[in-house]
Amino acid sequence: MSSNSDQSSFDRRSFLRWSGAAISASWLGTRAWARPQTEAKDLPQHLDFRRPPEQVYDAVIIGGGLSGLTAASALNQLGNHRVKVLEVRDRVGGRTLNAATAGGGVVELGGQWVGPTQDAVLNLMASLNIDRFPTYNIGAPVNDTSETLNAVELLDYWQAIQRIDQMAQTVPLNNPWDAAQASQWDAMTVQDWMNANMATDAAKSLIDFTVQVDFGGPARRVSLLWFLFYVHSGTNFNTMSEKAQRWRVVGGTQVISLELANRLGQQVELNAEVEGILWDDRGALIHFGGGRLIGAKKVIVAMMPKDADRIRFFPNLPSDRANLQKLWSTGQGDKYFAVYNTPFWRQQGRNGIAYSDNQFIVLAWDNSPPSGSPGILGGFPILEGSNRPPTKALRRRLVLRSFADFFGPEAYNAIDYHEYSWGLDPLTEGCVTPLEPGLLTAFGPALRQPVGPIHWAGTESSTVWCGYLDGAVRAGERAAQEVHALLP
Ligand SMILES: Cc1cc2nc3c(=O)[nH]c(=O)nc-3n(C[C@H](O)[C@H](O)[C@H](O)COP(=O)(O)OP(=O)(O)OC[C@H]3O[C@@H](n4cnc5c(N)ncnc54)[C@H](O)[C@@H]3O)c2cc1C
Repeated sequence: MSSNSDQSSFDRRSFLRWSGAAISASWLGTRAWARPQTEAKDLPQHLDFRRPPEQVYDAVIIGGGLSGLTAASALNQLGNHRVKVLEVRDRVGGRTLNAATAGGGVVELGGQWVGPTQDAVLNLMASLNIDRFPTYNIGAPVNDTSETLNAVELLDYWQAIQRIDQMAQTVPLNNPWDAAQASQWDAMTVQDWMNANMATDAAKSLIDFTVQVDFGGPARRVSLLWFLFYVHSGTNFNTMSEKAQRWRVVGGTQVISLELANRLGQQVELNAEVEGILWDDRGALIHFGGGRLIGAKKVIVAMMPKDADRIRFFPNLPSDRANLQKLWSTGQGDKYFAVYNTPFWRQQGRNGIAYSDNQFIVLAWDNSPPSGSPGILGGFPILEGSNRPPTKALRRRLVLRSFADFFGPEAYNAIDYHEYSWGLDPLTEGCVTPLEPGLLTAFGPALRQPVGPIHWAGTESSTVWCGYLDGAVRAGERAAQEVHALLP
């Protein structure tokens, strides 16, 4: 094939000859296939789109995280479509990742909890026969913070939460950029709002703590409009910050994706990095896996906007979508786990929860399996920039020291230790989203607006429980419905 040297030979006849019966007539339609408008000089040397595609699918889904797998599964249920999922990693699940521990336990290195009002993920789990169990919460937490809120500070805190909930309810879930005060709220950070509306530093610190944990970045970075949208999307402040951690998934959250992939079988292809997409209004050619090419009538990109920015598009995406992807803010997301023969803190009447403002771990919890054996403690640090301790040995020491400070010296007797830093994972550009001021009003509508044959899933495109497992499921279902409605 002389495709590189003689691209003008890539006319309709040769395309049909090359691709043969694999291409359905309905995809090409009655109009001739023509190269998308992109000039040949714009195509990079290393992505060869001029060969015939191996296969043509009704829908190709890029990303085998929970959202992409849900989209594939929903498309299978909606119609007799030819569907393919391409996943860069050698595993499915994306930001859900289980690790087996000593003593037969499992830790969730990514997303972990589910809670009330998260009906999409709860229904999906039920349909896959995956059970949940309550997060262990019997006993008292450890408060390792230097100050306890006094009555004035508590009042300040509760009044602020009340106002946040009131403001959040005025932010429309489908189009937060159209909120009456959208431009004002998107021009300021959560910290700006707290400084103008709250009286005490202690109460402000408590809200900042929630923002750090739930958004992966400090209140001084996060857009107030994004924060309010997120709170509304997660029902209200209390549901988002507390009830969303009510249950865990038996076997760890990655089992949801593993079970979906199991049912999708050959439709899921691993080790398949999508490098480029050539598209026009009638379809797309997808370059993946270091040189393979398939065609698609429709494409669903199921990942965080920042991750989609690694894919090259020909022609370029419209500037609002391109900017959304390029400028999307990402947060650090580190999780640490120590494994013990028994959950020794339970004998002390402790529920495993600890808050601290003077240890490496600022929030700890009981991460043991339903049987309580082995005993597992999980912990979040607050990391900014490059202040992550440089070696695993040092981090392990700091984690165990934190747990020992909370629950006593037995915490040094860990039989296993696990950690994960999502901010350092080259395939996931961060954890959850501390979106900075200005982005939502400038480029927000591009979150779900299809571009030619390309539709967008991934939890960040969900209107409900945006950023959560539940949002990933909802976004996958919504994108599948969009695509199904357009397929012949
Ligand atoms: C530390 C942490 C804690 C969390 N805690 C919770 C929690 O307790 N509860 C909760 O509800 N949510 C939690 N979340 C969020 C939750 O995990 C995510 O919302 C959800 O997993 C996102 O799913 P997704 O399919 O939208 O995206 P992802 O899981 O990111 O999936 C995207 C997929 O696309 C693949 N991909 C990327 N680029 C390409 C490419 N070029 N070609 C092919 N494939 C590609 C990736 O490998 C990945 O598999 C947490 C997340 C993290 C990181």
